[in-house]
Amino acid sequence: MNASKLLFSAGFAALLAAAGCRTVPETGRTQFVVLTSSYENNLGAANYKECMGQYKPVSDARQQEVLRRVGNALASVSGQADFKWEFNVLESSIENAFCLPGGKVAVYSGLMKRFDNEAELACVVAHEVGHAIARHGGERMSWEYLRKIGSLGLSEFAGTTVQDVYGIATQYGVMLPFSRSHETEADLIGLRLMAKAGYDPQAAVDFWQRFDKGDNDIITAITSTHPCDADRIAELNAHLGEAKSLYGQSAEKRGFGVKLQNGIPVSD
Ligand SMILES: [Zn+2]
Repeated sequence: MNASKLLFSAGFAALLAAAGCRTVPETGRTQFVVLTSSYENNLGAANYKECMGQYKPVSDARQQEVLRRVGNALASVSGQADFKWEFNVLESSIENAFCLPGGKVAVYSGLMKRFDNEAELACVVAHEVGHAIARHGGERMSWEYLRKIGSLGLSEFAGTTVQDVYGIATQYGVMLPFSRSHETEADLIGLRLMAKAGYDPQAAVDFWQRFDKGDNDIITAITSTHPCDADRIAELNAHLGEAKSLYGQSAEKRGFGVKLQNGIPVSD
């Protein structure tokens, strides 16, 4: 790249950075996002469709029902009017869950088996929804576009193919694990969200503590993408009082919800 091109792309990148700064309303953190939320949401919908073609929803209606009850409770207090929510338990031994931009949620049946109760499911879904609310996928994509412009120059970047851009979008928007700071932010947003939805936020501490204390006998997908350690538990505990008071104000108290065994609601 010659000097003038380098200067131009650096200048453009700076302009882009200034234009793309916004604040995450829930935490007050300044973030860099150049994409529109409708672009992100369309991308989320396309990726969800792809995923639904790869994995089948579980046939047990009770699992779908408990996820949808949790999902709808969280959605109703999320303040995301432009999200087109969908919730599915997908058949797979993968122990993970996600929420794509625009409110497309999936929990794999392998992870469903790890929950002791409905509130623990709510804690994980609320955390994933937290990533989507704070637009972490869009933020990561924006940085990657900026990095590409910086290294290629704008004219070469403009010449990149649709496939290249889509590649960035799928990889950085929805596929790769999030950074530690994004994890902490999603934890905080998720903790508040589950409490507002009427689930006892204590369940979040219980759930993650169980992994921290060695219940993770195998390295599961959820703990490899969500590093669980004393810092994380301490952070959750630090915000537990605030979350408990939100729980106290919630319209419908669900407590820990129904008990789950192998992902299926059981009565005592
Ligand atoms: Zn996460």
